[in-house]
Amino acid sequence: MPTCAICGIPTEHKCTNCNQTFYCGKVHQKQHWLTHKVDCRPFKVEHSDQLGRYLVATRSIKPFEIILKEAPLICTPSQVTSPVCLGCLNGIEPSDYIDCENCGWPLCGIECKGKPEHEVECEFTVKRGSKVSVKEFTNPHPLYQCMGTVRCLLLAKKDPEKWKVFSELESLEKLRRGSMQWKADLESIGKFIPRFFKTTDFSEDLIMKTVGILQINGHEVPVTDPPHVAIFKNASFLEHSCHPNLAKSFTKDGHLILWAPKTIKRNTHLSICYSDAVWGTQERQQHLMHTKIFKCECERCLDVTEFGTNYDGFKCTTPDCIGVILPSSLKEWNSKWRCSTCGNHVDISFIKDILEKAGKDLNPMTRTADNCIKYIQNYQKWLTNRHFYICQAKIQLVQLIGTDPKELMTVPEDKLNLKLEYCKELLDLYEKLAPCEIRMLGTFCFELHSAIAEHTRRVALKTSLSPKNMLEESLLYVDKCINYLQHECDIFVEGHILKQAKINRDALRMVLVM
Ligand SMILES: [Zn+2]
Ligand SMILES: [Zn+2]
Ligand SMILES: [Zn+2]
Ligand SMILES: [Zn+2]
Ligand SMILES: [Zn+2]
Ligand SMILES: [Zn+2]
Repeated sequence: MPTCAICGIPTEHKCTNCNQTFYCGKVHQKQHWLTHKVDCRPFKVEHSDQLGRYLVATRSIKPFEIILKEAPLICTPSQVTSPVCLGCLNGIEPSDYIDCENCGWPLCGIECKGKPEHEVECEFTVKRGSKVSVKEFTNPHPLYQCMGTVRCLLLAKKDPEKWKVFSELESLEKLRRGSMQWKADLESIGKFIPRFFKTTDFSEDLIMKTVGILQINGHEVPVTDPPHVAIFKNASFLEHSCHPNLAKSFTKDGHLILWAPKTIKRNTHLSICYSDAVWGTQERQQHLMHTKIFKCECERCLDVTEFGTNYDGFKCTTPDCIGVILPSSLKEWNSKWRCSTCGNHVDISFIKDILEKAGKDLNPMTRTADNCIKYIQNYQKWLTNRHFYICQAKIQLVQLIGTDPKELMTVPEDKLNLKLEYCKELLDLYEKLAPCEIRMLGTFCFELHSAIAEHTRRVALKTSLSPKNMLEESLLYVDKCINYLQHECDIFVEGHILKQAKINRDALRMVLVM
């Protein structure tokens, strides 16, 4: 039988938040709270040979519940970056910066001089005997490729406790060794650090293991411009899924918030998406293999229809057949594609040609509503209505039609209808496919709410009625938007949308009670 955390008496009563710590009663629970609150979380860390460490929900988690707020273990510049200030990790303004008087690394200004973040690497640079000189600020700078690794290596000296946690994280060194990326990293980091910093403090093996830990566990944190990379201890234990159950948000100071957009049942593995859930299966698979060295076999990847959305599907080429052409299985992605209705096989080179053209036409396209519409009309000849390339054009389109409220008032009727139709379609699709892409979902809800409000205004003008059910629908989506974006801070576009959404919600509520 479990025992009370304070007095050791056998007891069945436990803390209802984490379901993991037991108490004889309220008195001892209260007494223990200050100690317990640090570990009181609705999940636990488990271990298996196949997954390594992973997180499991210890109770049912409610929609929108935060399960973890975590400060970074360490923040570093990205491996590929134009010069950034080593004090605050923001980009260097070529016309307005200073060089650190000790080591020569550029800093954004006087306010970042002597910041503790830069202290240890400043000393480390001074030891090389001559100052660093950075004069080119617009392109990715080769010197910065090693700085993330240097910062992590120096953690051993700066904060041994944090270094211990860091060095025990997964590096996948054995799998990475010998790959193209690994060979490039060996030159630009592994061999470079001892040579450039004139140091024998770190072995090549230790440097390469550190590179691995940083690449496998690093999160891109968009609170600086350009984004930096941070390691979060608990989040490092999360599994990847292309259909995850946790959403990520960041506070102004770069802390990670993990929360559940939908209910998570007890004993479910917790997951986030390490790739981009808006990409097609092939793109996600390649990206994960390249950056995290594994073949994803999540429930979405194994289901070639991606939950019936046919997100990677082609229209069948047999006359009058309305079936969808897809690979027979994830394994046969590069060989067999066929129609599930008529059985028609299609040559893989046909699929690859069209996908290549669709990608090439989309990326450099000038972003106008008419170009998006043309693109959709053209590629709908081959691709399903919910194909990821078609959807990428639709995502742009809904944001290009009536970008601000004034513009929306002058949008022609047919375009407003298109915006309404595609917003609903995209919201419905991605709530199924990528329920944790909360910034995108929140933005669709906002766009949809404003399109419905504008449609309502036009109906009211024509008929001099005020259609209550339409206003209620608009309110429904603005409420949804606020739910999705509730943790976004105002340094992000989505934080601004959240602010506006709250204003619009209050205004709509006022109108509805009148
Ligand atoms: Zn007790
Ligand atoms: Zn607890
Ligand atoms: Zn700075
Ligand atoms: Zn310095
Ligand atoms: Zn997957
Ligand atoms: Zn067919």
